[in-house]
Amino acid sequence: MRNLIVVLGDQLDPDSAAWEGFDPARDAAWMAECSREATHVWSHKARIVLFLSAMRHFRDALLERGIDVHYRELDRNDHRSLVERLEADLDTLQPERVIVLEPGEWRLRQELRMLGDRLSGHRTLTLCEDMHFLCSHAKFEDWMRNRRQPRMEHFYRRMRREQRILVDEDGNPEGGQWNFDHANRERFDASGPPADLPAHVAFPPDACTRAVIEQVMDVFPDHPGTLKHFDWPVTRADALRALEDFTDQRLEHFGRWQDAMWAGLPPNRAVLYHSRLSAALNLKLLDPRQVCDAACAVYAAGKAPIEAVEGFVRQILGWREYVRGLYWHRMPGHSNDNALDAQADLPDFYWSGDTDMRCLKETLRETLAYGYAHHIQRLMVTGLYALLLGVEPAQVHRWYLAIYVDAVEWVELPNVIGMSQWADGGILASKPYIASGRYIQRMSNYCDGCRFHPIQTTGPRACPFTVLYWDFLARHRARFADHPRLKLQVRNLDRRDRQDIEALRARAAQLRRDGA
Ligand code: FAD
Ligand code: SF4
Repeated sequence: MRNLIVVLGDQLDPDSAAWEGFDPARDAAWMAECSREATHVWSHKARIVLFLSAMRHFRDALLERGIDVHYRELDRNDHRSLVERLEADLDTLQPERVIVLEPGEWRLRQELRMLGDRLSGHRTLTLCEDMHFLCSHAKFEDWMRNRRQPRMEHFYRRMRREQRILVDEDGNPEGGQWNFDHANRERFDASGPPADLPAHVAFPPDACTRAVIEQVMDVFPDHPGTLKHFDWPVTRADALRALEDFTDQRLEHFGRWQDAMWAGLPPNRAVLYHSRLSAALNLKLLDPRQVCDAACAVYAAGKAPIEAVEGFVRQILGWREYVRGLYWHRMPGHSNDNALDAQADLPDFYWSGDTDMRCLKETLRETLAYGYAHHIQRLMVTGLYALLLGVEPAQVHRWYLAIYVDAVEWVELPNVIGMSQWADGGILASKPYIASGRYIQRMSNYCDGCRFHPIQTTGPRACPFTVLYWDFLARHRARFADHPRLKLQVRNLDRRDRQDIEALRARAAQLRRDGA
């Protein structure tokens, strides 16, 4: 054998850099389902099914093209790591060269590099750069150089110009502005989302996915989440249909209701106007350029306003590329960041949804049922509560990595450590995303029918978010008193009388000790 192409579970593109010059007569592919990958974080069952089913579909597509695939299916008794299994197979397969697309996780990249060092002189291991991103490592590092305060907005504008996405011939932004945030982010009125809110296209499990579901139920019965609603795209063709479904049905209203939340929707509408494309993008079933182009084509055809399309492109070309750059720039230390010295434990109810706080209960119910929650639910409900409570960021990181179908470390970690927990001390986000229960009340219907009240800070109906919000400001007063974007909130704290603050802090300590 000449080349052995190692395909990891989130590299399901037959045209990736690893396949360059592939010759079916002399080369082969290698893939493995490792139970350790599902257990080193306690993965949601849907996350395991998604990865395994997409891998098996990819294997079958390769076989159909006459490619020799050495595929190792899940073996509950094999606890070796992916690299240990690969190393053992190299002895039998004897390729001259092992080619791997760089993984999306620092730990695995290190293990592969070490394997490369161990291989004997006549065999080499090549790690290729993953070209499924629009900003290469070198370009990002170049942009970061000498930058004291990196900001996503500056990065994003540069990417727009460089990629010529939503800019005119002179490099000016389409619609006359770079940013339409002010026109977006509305809440729904009291009646909720419009009656014609479309259902997302569903991909009911085929025979292959059903077999995976059975196996996962058998091997990982105690893992969190359920599989009743599993309908994620697991092939390239499915992913393309999902993209078309989004651009045809929901993109038009994407920006407008990007931050809105609503409880009580049927499973096929719970995604609201979001794209539901993150998992397909992260597994490389879709390419970010293709996704941006599809959105821009809808704008060019006059079928979606600039506010919606710019808002969507910003997520892919801006945030997605930016967090990926920051992940590799800041690893390995990034995972230990804890700028606010948060030490509390993650409450147990994060794994069960068993809490009286309706915002958390609903978000966790959706998370456990689908392996999905949209950005504001992740940031301003589950993330916000952990931040205000002062949960150790590493524990928050492990939970997010386990619980969402789209979780891959390069994207999950900076979102959790930097954006949601402000544990990097302000590198990703200039200020912590903090808010009281009133924000949740404004953006959702969660507070209706909740046992707590978002405005109350004392008594049995005191909203834990609101209590912990004031406690957060009091705990970190010295750090944020002169912060340009938080000093107003600190001033509001200073206006409260001393006794009131002491009572709030005592209640917060009790919440930390006994739960809500
Ligand atoms: P949409 O709202 O439709 O957005 C379109 C696309 O933009 C997404 O599919 C995604 O690819 C990209 N995107 C949007 N926001 C971000 C962002 N902040 N960072 C990177 N890409 C973004 N995204 C993941 O893909 N995997 C994760 O593990 C993950 N963990 C997160 C953890 C926290 C605490 C937070 C606050 C955000 C996290 N995100 C993660 C980002 C974002 O919440 C999800 O990408 C999004 O909710 C996925 O749903 P969607 O495809 O419907 O997205
Ligand atoms: Fe959440 Fe507080 Fe609203 Fe209840 S009252 S749903 S705990 S924000």
